[in-house]
Amino acid sequence: MNNAFQGGCYCGDIRFEVSDIFDAGYCHCSICRRLSGAPAIVWASAPARSFRLTQGSPSMFRSSENWARYFCSTCGCGLFGRYSVAPTDRQDFVSFNPYILDNSEAVRPTVHIWYESKASYFDTIDDLPRFPEGVISHPSKRRSWRAPWE
Ligand SMILES: [Zn+2]
Ligand SMILES: [Zn+2]
Repeated sequence: MNNAFQGGCYCGDIRFEVSDIFDAGYCHCSICRRLSGAPAIVWASAPARSFRLTQGSPSMFRSSENWARYFCSTCGCGLFGRYSVAPTDRQDFVSFNPYILDNSEAVRPTVHIWYESKASYFDTIDDLPRFPEGVISHPSKRRSWRAPWE
């Protein structure tokens, strides 16, 4: 696999392997904030075909009409999300929590999304591109883009 990483939930019941990571960033949306208890989360994305569970079965719920989130029912660790119905008009991808990789700093954020929803007291001093909502340009079209794993 190209740039393959291993990861798993906090308790170790669920393990996965992912490769071809093409984007990563902060999400400031109200759903991520509420589910994590943090002012922002970090996500990373890979093609759905490049994300493979190697152990265990995560639980799932839909946090919005089209988005399914998977987590460990033993330790509660948030694992990944994907469209509940695979999109036909764009690449089907998995968005996962990069801090559950065995090398938790292997992937760095390259963008902010849902910046319009950012907590007013939360300061970000980086110069990463900021998108007001969740629809963003392809990473290769952004200025000074580097692969999140470089
Ligand atoms: Zn677990
Ligand atoms: Zn979010």
